[in-house]
Amino acid sequence: MSFKKLGLSDPILRSLKELHHFEPSKIQKRAIPIVLSGNNLMAAAQTGTGKTGSFVLPIIEYLLDKPKPFKKHVHVLILTPTRELAAQVRESIYTYGKFTSTTSAAVFGGVKVFPQKSKLKKGLDILVATPGRLLDLHNQKAVKLSRVKVLVLDEADHMLDMGFINDIKKIIALTPEDRQNLLFSATFSNEIRKLAKTLGSDLKEITAQNPNSTVDAIKQVVYCVDKDKKSELLAHLINSGSWHQVLVFSRTKHGCEKIAKKLNAVDIKTLTIHGDKRQGARTKALKDFKEKKVKVLVATDVAARGIDINNLPYVINFDMPTYPNDYIHRIGRTGRAGKNGNAISFMDINEKKFLNGVENLLKNKIQQITEVGFEPVQKPSTESRSKASKDKQTKFKKSKKNNLRGNKYKKSLNQTKQDVKRKKKRKSKARTRWKKVK
Ligand code: AMP
Repeated sequence: MSFKKLGLSDPILRSLKELHHFEPSKIQKRAIPIVLSGNNLMAAAQTGTGKTGSFVLPIIEYLLDKPKPFKKHVHVLILTPTRELAAQVRESIYTYGKFTSTTSAAVFGGVKVFPQKSKLKKGLDILVATPGRLLDLHNQKAVKLSRVKVLVLDEADHMLDMGFINDIKKIIALTPEDRQNLLFSATFSNEIRKLAKTLGSDLKEITAQNPNSTVDAIKQVVYCVDKDKKSELLAHLINSGSWHQVLVFSRTKHGCEKIAKKLNAVDIKTLTIHGDKRQGARTKALKDFKEKKVKVLVATDVAARGIDINNLPYVINFDMPTYPNDYIHRIGRTGRAGKNGNAISFMDINEKKFLNGVENLLKNKIQQITEVGFEPVQKPSTESRSKASKDKQTKFKKSKKNNLRGNKYKKSLNQTKQDVKRKKKRKSKARTRWKKVK
């Protein structure tokens, strides 16, 4: 089936041709007709499957013959969990709608609010926003949502993970009830279904693939390695395999910086993106990485959401992700649009439980290997147990000490009380004696 048969018009087909998108992807084939028919939709679509096009393309088509919105109003509102994804979706709108008059903007936190306000002044066909900044702008009366025709919740599972549920509810309440609702999520958890119910009872549900599975084109492998050897192994793999573009995930912001420091120290150009970095630095790091000015980008889960890099060949899980769903999102950065990709996870002996969680979710085993010279030697850590028992012992000792101290204190307190009583007695005796003398 061609894009034309799906009902898209010439200006959109022209931009698709320029982009070399000749065939609609599976999710696009299923979602585009539903979106064009004006129905509500709940789609399970992983990142990298062409999900953005599956709602952006029919939305641009829908807007072709619509009059422009009034001042500060928007026709279509797309909510995303992160700034990077908002920028990414806005870029897709721009490229897919290049030969149309579609107006759009992305608004998100971490950057000045004034330029965003001025973009909204005339009204926009499509506004892409992160929930917090959108509510800020609404409170400042910079945007009106009472005429929204289409509402898209992109990566809804991430928005819930990030605690946006109340903001989303507030935003939904600001939009009219007769809007069209489109919800996209990599996974359909109970929370997602609950949220979907608040959008309406007539949502058409589609699943372009098993929502909890990873893209087939991704080769997955787990390296068993000691924790303190992970940086060295990473540098070794990058150098020996001549990898030129590697996205590395670290669980913490501090971890990102530590990895980058070690790689830069051995002349592997590395940048980081995480929540402690200013938006300008994050955007620049991503740009430099996309343009291959740096080999490695180290990111936390949150910062990396929405990253779309054509032909990204390697994703490294420097730590095994604590939540199995994060694994799917992390490795979905590679193997996009049917291209081959490699997802490599480093697992130390204490992270086996996380791998079990991932394998249970995937209902598949991931191959485990070791690299010569990096074979793990560490035994399963009793560190936490011994530390806990040590802590307990110290606490016990401390509390014993405190008790002793307490007893001493009580004793001395009792003594002083007795002293005061004795003194009072002596005083009163003296007084009676004095009275008698008088
Ligand atoms: P997404 O899942 O929306 O993040 O898209 C992942 C990547 O696939 C992006 O780089 C898109 O440009 C690309 N893409 C989307 N649709 C198609 C298509 N029909 N043919 C080829 N590439 C596509």
